[in-house]
Amino acid sequence: MDFELTQEQVQLRKMVRDFAERELGPHVLEWDEAQTFPLEAVKKAGELGLLGAIFPEEYGGSDLGYIDYSVIIEELARVDPSFALIVAAHNSLCSNHIYLAGTEDQKQKYLSKLTTGEWIGCWSLTEPEAGSDAGGTRTTAVHRSGAWVLNGGKTFTTNAHHAQVCVAMALTDRAASHHGVSAFILESGTPGFRVGKKENKLGMRSSDTGEVLFSDCALPESQLLGKPGEGFVDSLRILDGGRISIAALSVGLAQGAYEAALHYSKQRKQFGRFISEFQAIQHKLADMATSIEASRLLVYRAGAMKDAGLRVTKESSMAKLFASEAAVKVADEAVQIHGGYGFIKDYPVEKFYRDVKLCTIGEGTSEIQRLVIARQLLKD
Ligand SMILES: Cc1cc2nc3c(=O)[nH]c(=O)nc-3n(C[C@H](O)[C@H](O)[C@H](O)COP(=O)(O)OP(=O)(O)OC[C@H]3O[C@@H](n4cnc5c(N)ncnc54)[C@H](O)[C@@H]3O)c2cc1C
Repeated sequence: MDFELTQEQVQLRKMVRDFAERELGPHVLEWDEAQTFPLEAVKKAGELGLLGAIFPEEYGGSDLGYIDYSVIIEELARVDPSFALIVAAHNSLCSNHIYLAGTEDQKQKYLSKLTTGEWIGCWSLTEPEAGSDAGGTRTTAVHRSGAWVLNGGKTFTTNAHHAQVCVAMALTDRAASHHGVSAFILESGTPGFRVGKKENKLGMRSSDTGEVLFSDCALPESQLLGKPGEGFVDSLRILDGGRISIAALSVGLAQGAYEAALHYSKQRKQFGRFISEFQAIQHKLADMATSIEASRLLVYRAGAMKDAGLRVTKESSMAKLFASEAAVKVADEAVQIHGGYGFIKDYPVEKFYRDVKLCTIGEGTSEIQRLVIARQLLKD
């Protein structure tokens, strides 16, 4: 058992940290206020290989493992969780679905453009009436005259308004229930396919979240992704990896909030002393640092198991559950340590506090993680 990052991973962390502090740091608040999607910075992340982190070089990827990928997401989230969310949805949801279930033609056509950031990807599973119960998809795809015709709509799709490629799940066989959902690849500009409302959010405001709508959208056979009826089952596999990235995002966000609170506690004086000298503040810092370390270990263990080709349904859910709930607590305490200034936008903890709530909701709520974990425990 080795608890140290490799030399390459340390260098990767430094490279991403430099990128995040240089390219994201100065703009975080402005992007958040205006809900600006940071397209230019996303393209630069593509040039650095961050948009194809976990894919082989033959598709233009960086051929990294899940620990490396976690380090990337962590470092981006430490500065801007919204940016980390954009990169996570692109990599571990859209691109990974194409990588895991796609034909060689589909991988050559789509993955090679997604890994470089030439195209941005989104992944649409959630519907207005099918959230936690994602298998209850109502969007339909009917096979008619050699084409799949999609009707319906998706909600809460990350990157929706900026994506050139969308992987969407639709019901192809109502009688087969969860085994009647299939996945499709859609390109922006396809007739009958459009994006709808852009959500105005509490946090993660520079990451775009929107509706994706289908109205008699006819797709050739070539756009079916994976086997018919396997779309939902494949989605669960995709989420096993995706949850590691949301857990890593939680760790990075918590790290950013903790560092800001630590720094502030050593600057702020009350009663003639730095507040870091008060034991009540020291205990908060100790608890924050400890929960971040514990979260990170869970993330890296799930990542190491994934890299070893093992099933990580339980471990990725445990990492996501623990890290996201720990991050909510850390962000809360970081604001508390700042007192009234934590409530003011001049300090970064205000944004961490808003952003963090998504971590216990996206890619399955905490309640659903507990359900997944318990199901795995009872199966063993
Ligand atoms: C910013 C943002 C980005 C997102 N990005 C994407 C994306 O890119 N692609 C995508 O497909 N989706 C995305 N989502 C959707 C996200 O995954 C869902 O919001 C989430 O799965 C919860 O679904 P819901 O919102 O419908 O809540 P609901 O399912 O309605 O849940 C409401 C409450 O009921 C609880 N609950 C539900 N069922 C159970 C149960 N069986 N047992 C116990 N409690 C239960 C939930 O835990 C929650 O507390 C995003 C959401 C947000 C907010």
